[in-house]
Amino acid sequence: MSDIIKLLSDSVANQIAAGEVVQRPSSVVKELVENSLDAGASSIDVIIKDAGRTLIQVVDNGFGMSPTDARMSFERHATSKISKAEDLFAITTMGFRGEALASIAAVAEVELVTRRADDELGTCINIAASKVKSQEPVAAAVGTNFKVRNLFFNIPARRKFLKSDKVEYKHIIDEIHRIVLTNPSVAFKVVFDNEIKYQLLSENIHQRIANVFGKKLNQNLVPIGVETQIVNIKGFVAKPEMSQKNTSEQFFFVNNRYMYHPYFRKAVTSAYDKLLPEGENPRFFIYLEVDPSTIDINIHPTKTEIKFEGEQAIYMILNSAVKEALGKFNVVPTLSFEEDITRDAHFTSTTVVRPPVISVNPKFNPFKYTDSGYKRDVPKGWEQIYDGGKTRDDFELPESENPQNPEAMQFIGPPPFHFIAFGNDCHKSA
Ligand code: ADP
Ligand code: MG
Repeated sequence: MSDIIKLLSDSVANQIAAGEVVQRPSSVVKELVENSLDAGASSIDVIIKDAGRTLIQVVDNGFGMSPTDARMSFERHATSKISKAEDLFAITTMGFRGEALASIAAVAEVELVTRRADDELGTCINIAASKVKSQEPVAAAVGTNFKVRNLFFNIPARRKFLKSDKVEYKHIIDEIHRIVLTNPSVAFKVVFDNEIKYQLLSENIHQRIANVFGKKLNQNLVPIGVETQIVNIKGFVAKPEMSQKNTSEQFFFVNNRYMYHPYFRKAVTSAYDKLLPEGENPRFFIYLEVDPSTIDINIHPTKTEIKFEGEQAIYMILNSAVKEALGKFNVVPTLSFEEDITRDAHFTSTTVVRPPVISVNPKFNPFKYTDSGYKRDVPKGWEQIYDGGKTRDDFELPESENPQNPEAMQFIGPPPFHFIAFGNDCHKSA
């Protein structure tokens, strides 16, 4: 009998790989936007039609590609981000597998237009189901513009299994949230079916949260912050009354990368203890920073589950950081308007930064109220931890400040802390 094992053709191998990488339109959005970030873009547009069925377009002002690189970028295991095995242990980019573009091009029609600043002309490549249709020089802006059309056009079974527009848009929004919350200094414009969904200027993390999730949530955030030998934790947790039925606004990031971590989630939710009615979930935005050698970002193909060394210790630290924020520091800082403690995005080297005055009611213990009788009943006295002598209105943004214009906004809220020190945004803007 003759031998029976054959090597798969590239296009079949790519389609198999695509099964993992490209689960739905939101996966394409994620991969393309991460590439734009890796290319140093300071401004990224995401344009979606029909929940990604018809069009997913990502336009960036990053460093672009040479004609040869543009062609190479669609090969499987083709990457500019690592070259040897050791590099796997010191990854500084979002991508590194060199699989995304090959996978996307295996299951869609892709047009790539890209130009580097030093090149007079750019390159346009059309590729569909892994077959290059054309490659030609074109006039183009510096940066990269990917159009992905008719996702899964060649795999009817998968196209058919896409969910309703509403569900697919929800997945896309979830991806976009994870990305914009880790890259506040990057401007984003997101357009769904010709309507602007988000228009975000370069800003700080607190402004970004306000502009994405709204003024009401922003006014009800409490900062958390703790530095230890094994983990630094920063971020915001929302007051109990901002809780919601779903868990879509629970964000953990580690070293500026989104992660899903049920065990740490428990650390946070259990800190709210009796403050939340049954079935309600707290909203939080928590950024962990650890030594990269203590985590394994490689255990899951879509890279959102991350294994930590010392998870139990981190659980305890996280739990007490949230409790402390809710119980003690949670008293809204008494910010006086005379002292100009605003969240001005444009600190300069000459800006004088003064710490805010925080008044704490040492007798107040939010955990001592145990019975929450009916739905949305947050324990009595909860308000008072926040009032700190001021009425709620004192923390409203003046109506004249247009929330669409973050530059004009004054953020009156928790004491400022600076994300600049961790996350790679500052290096980009430097
Ligand atoms: P990976 O991101 O894992 O390297 P991809 O398939 O996503 O793999 O991309 C392959 C390569 O194409 C990247 O390593 C990068 O060199 C190049 N590339 C992709 N997107 C862009 C972009 N928006 N700007 C510049 N280069 C890009
Ligand atoms: Mg990539």
